[in-house]
Amino acid sequence: MSYIVALTGGIGSGKSTVSDEFSRLGVPVIDADIIAREVVEPGTVALQAIAQHFGVSMIQPDGKLDRKRLRAHIFSHPDEKQWLNNLLHPLIQQETRRKMAAIKAPYILWAVPLLVENNLCSRANRILVVDVSTETQLQRTMARDGSSQHQAEQIIAAQSSRQARLLQADDVINNDGSSAELINQIEHLHQKYLTLAHEFNKQDSSI
Ligand code: ADP
Repeated sequence: MSYIVALTGGIGSGKSTVSDEFSRLGVPVIDADIIAREVVEPGTVALQAIAQHFGVSMIQPDGKLDRKRLRAHIFSHPDEKQWLNNLLHPLIQQETRRKMAAIKAPYILWAVPLLVENNLCSRANRILVVDVSTETQLQRTMARDGSSQHQAEQIIAAQSSRQARLLQADDVINNDGSSAELINQIEHLHQKYLTLAHEFNKQDSSI
């Protein structure tokens, strides 16, 4: 298994921008959000189990999961969230491992927005947090999503705090500055990760 660098950060911090940049540098990126969608695609056992448990009204006419409806249901029935997590988390973990095992590269960037919230820190060799001030976070989220300040604030409040995320960080990218400053930090970290991964892979192959 390659060396795993987990990338996390709050909404609008710049995670997608950062992972695109690592990808441009040739680093394979595994996106936890994409896997979370893949495990409930039409025809999967998970989607069938969801339909059985919550009713077929959770399935859209096109056969896909009505994520908005499910989210609203979970929000008003917190105990059901546990049921859903018990179903999905092992499937997501299995698929993540399968994808990672198929990759041959010095290191993998594992993009996980809810790394801290879902207690996944121990699954990575290194944790990279994209950090921005709350003001920047609000501005960029509102500009990108067309959301109101209230909506953006609510999402931020429901996520881990900036401090809780920073406590888990091995490395921090500050993204309050320009895109050029961001790219500079990423290129620096890329070199660092290549060195760390080289050491890790050397030890791994000597066992
Ligand atoms: P996340 O994936 O963490 O939610 P994004 O990567 O989508 O965040 O970034 C949020 C928004 O801020 C996007 O519209 C993105 O283009 C913009 N953005 C990211 N970094 C910068 C930066 N350094 N300067 C200006 N805009 C940025």
